[in-house]
Amino acid sequence: MNQQVYFFGEGQADGDTQMRNLLGGKGANLAEMTRLGMPVPPGFTISTEMCTAYYDQGGDDLPEGLEAACQAAITRVEGILDRKFGDSSKPLLFSIRSGARVSMPGMMDTVLNLGLNDEAVEGLAKESGTARFAYDSYRRFIQMFGNVVLDVDGEHFEDALDALKDARGVALDTDLSAEDLQQLIQSYKSIVREHAGRDFPQDANVQLRDSITAVFRSWNNDRAKHYRNMHGYEHDWGTAVNVQAMVFGNMGDDCATGVAFTRDPSTGENLFYGEYLVNAQGEDVVAGVRTPQPVRKNSGGESGSSLEELMPGCYGELIDIVGRLERHYHDMLDLEFTIQNDHLWMLQVRSGKRTGAAAVRIAVEMVQEGLIDTHEAVRRVAPDQLDQLLHPMLDPKAETTLLGKGLPASPGAVSGEIVFTAAEAVSGAAGGHKAILVRRETSPEDIAGMEAAVGILTQRGGMTSHAAVVARGMGKCCVSGCGEIILDEAAGTLQLGGKSFKRGDMLTLNGTTGEILDGEVRTIEPKVDDNFRQLMQWANEARRLRVRTNADSPHDSRLAREFGAEGIGLCRTEHMFFGEERIAAMREMIVATDLASREKALAKLLPFQREDFVGILDAMDGLPVTVRLLDPPLHEFLPQEEAEIERLAGELSVTKERMHQIVDSLHEFNPMLGHRGCRLGVTYPEIYLMQAEAIVRAACELKKAGKDPRPEIMIPLTGVDRELQIMRDLVATRRDEILAEEGLQLEILIGTMIEIPRACVTADEIAKVADFFSFGTNDLTQMGFGYSRDDSGSFLPEYVERGILPRDPFQGLDQGGIGKLVEMAVELGRAENADLHLGVCGEHGGDAESVGFFHRAGLDYVSCSPYRVPVAILAAAQAALEDAR
Ligand code: PEP
Ligand code: MG
Repeated sequence: MNQQVYFFGEGQADGDTQMRNLLGGKGANLAEMTRLGMPVPPGFTISTEMCTAYYDQGGDDLPEGLEAACQAAITRVEGILDRKFGDSSKPLLFSIRSGARVSMPGMMDTVLNLGLNDEAVEGLAKESGTARFAYDSYRRFIQMFGNVVLDVDGEHFEDALDALKDARGVALDTDLSAEDLQQLIQSYKSIVREHAGRDFPQDANVQLRDSITAVFRSWNNDRAKHYRNMHGYEHDWGTAVNVQAMVFGNMGDDCATGVAFTRDPSTGENLFYGEYLVNAQGEDVVAGVRTPQPVRKNSGGESGSSLEELMPGCYGELIDIVGRLERHYHDMLDLEFTIQNDHLWMLQVRSGKRTGAAAVRIAVEMVQEGLIDTHEAVRRVAPDQLDQLLHPMLDPKAETTLLGKGLPASPGAVSGEIVFTAAEAVSGAAGGHKAILVRRETSPEDIAGMEAAVGILTQRGGMTSHAAVVARGMGKCCVSGCGEIILDEAAGTLQLGGKSFKRGDMLTLNGTTGEILDGEVRTIEPKVDDNFRQLMQWANEARRLRVRTNADSPHDSRLAREFGAEGIGLCRTEHMFFGEERIAAMREMIVATDLASREKALAKLLPFQREDFVGILDAMDGLPVTVRLLDPPLHEFLPQEEAEIERLAGELSVTKERMHQIVDSLHEFNPMLGHRGCRLGVTYPEIYLMQAEAIVRAACELKKAGKDPRPEIMIPLTGVDRELQIMRDLVATRRDEILAEEGLQLEILIGTMIEIPRACVTADEIAKVADFFSFGTNDLTQMGFGYSRDDSGSFLPEYVERGILPRDPFQGLDQGGIGKLVEMAVELGRAENADLHLGVCGEHGGDAESVGFFHRAGLDYVSCSPYRVPVAILAAAQAALEDAR
């Protein structure tokens, strides 16, 4: 049988940092720090295999042999600390913490002070010399055990605590005496008996067994499952359980507990950054009930309150450890530490979560510091994190009214309507509202609401509070710990800056500065800095896959080019027809009953189209620009409202009845599968001829002006090779006529989108008449799955939630199905036409995971919206580096 339990303590450990799949991140790193000789309280890690075994055998009993293995490890810990588990005079107490292979902050359960019972608490009181501390630890343990292990609603305990405080006339827990706490312990035990139907167990071994089971169970609680679904983590990984000797940060004023980052997690600046509380337990810092103080002096907080000033010895030791850990892990780290009676203990180390800006800065600076190489720097930044660098900021010229200030927990700026509950945020988002979720503090229960909201504002909690950590992970704007807010969640009001707000009122958050502003404020597009450019340069050097953009205006083309786009992979032409003068001509064309009048209307559109293409080709001078000929069904260009239809009839001098007839005749039951794409070109070749002419003439105009235009003409929605053959002949003939007339030689490729499954299956036939394929994976997903692009919102979230699909296939390419169609088309197409150029222009071209797939499938390029270009560049580089490995 595999090893069930991995011991760590006194410089020795069974595990190490490589073993995170088996020991979870926390367990693997506790083992590693122990090996490095750092002060880690001894303990052991129960492997993730035990969690899966627990579920495999039905989720009732612990796997066979596990309890005995725990006993053996406990005996070793007892030997090191000279204490005994379950003993009444010198009790050994444990913390029980979950720890999956990836960080899932606050999603699973923890039990502290395990091993206390009616007798051991007296031993602890004697030993610590403070009865109050011992009883407080015991009552906290009963509450945690009751809540986490026995499923007793935490409110019962809170109510009993409040009742006692009222009776004593005190406001704070700390004002309760040892005797008060003894009384509270009795109340808590009654609560357990009443609500759990069993007595609080006095036997330490029973406490341990039940707590391990509870941590295993918490792997599958709703919020953990939701979190995994959101991040695409597998449900069968299981969690490890870390059983570690307790150290106390709450035994007096020479005790403290804190969390820290080796560098600033918000900006990436190389400055030790952390927060701590004197005389507190770990959860107090993260829960945000008391506002923590900075560890480093002169970094905010109350003067003289930093760890550096109050406990210089421990601070010095901590700084030394921080340096050693960074040099060992070559990464920015997140630490948890506790100081018990002036003695420093390390409780956790892991790679620190950071904002996109911090990730880029840290990666680049670590190369400069010689800690990592440029390839590693490219691997270090998650492509999606770049989004955060590219998010809007407040327009500095905008008029603003400052209401108050909290902590700059997660950058970006956003305006939205105030909501007070996660449920309101979710329903608001479903109704198309932008919600700012305002909470006293967030907890893991709020996760769906935080995801749905555009921004998060909390009254309590520091930079490492739940709200801050989770929002940063989501790249969502967040201001935390704004103590000035007077919040009445029940009444649905908040007061700030002398103003009263209610649910639905507009607020603006600046997560970069922590400012909270009145009403809606204008935002501007972000600018990228030198670190970003440096990282992009390294990514560009590493990648093979080219990255183009989907753009249909000169402005977007220029923006994308600044972001590194190497041309346009999809220039949709439909939006160009909606300009004021254009839509009239377009409608005239649609309403026309004969070829001559259609051509007359199209002739009006030609100069507009030509002008459009001149602008775009000029913006992309020297780079390929793939222009797609008209794709949507014609009804999309006609009005549907009665009054509008009447107005149009007047404008075009047809009767109302005739106008209705036309609108009705263009009605389609399933327009996505209807008269669109190249089917339009087959039935109305004059439309495509006009567009081809506009493209070729625009290119000639630029060429004559000394420019280097490189248009490519793309026929959409091909399903049959013959279709494409006809369209190609049509367009090529017009192209060649114009080039001859202009006396110019220009290479203008003609290719097609591959977005119909039949086209994939017959790609060899199609490749005979195409210079290039561009996979339209939006439609290919729609038609491959038979899921309407516009209607799948009503069931796909449930499909993902229930694990029927790992991701929404319109977001991340379904590699096992739609991806196979792509691979088949690549293979068939290339075999027939070795020069065939291959790209993708569906939304998946900007999805990091899908970009990796396209790299492996051997495509030449991906194309995505301008803001996704850096994401695709980085993902392409990472895929290439992965290959090289
Ligand atoms: C596609 O179908 O993937 C595509 C890019 O075209 P559109 O989204 O315009 O249908
Ligand atoms: Mg399409």
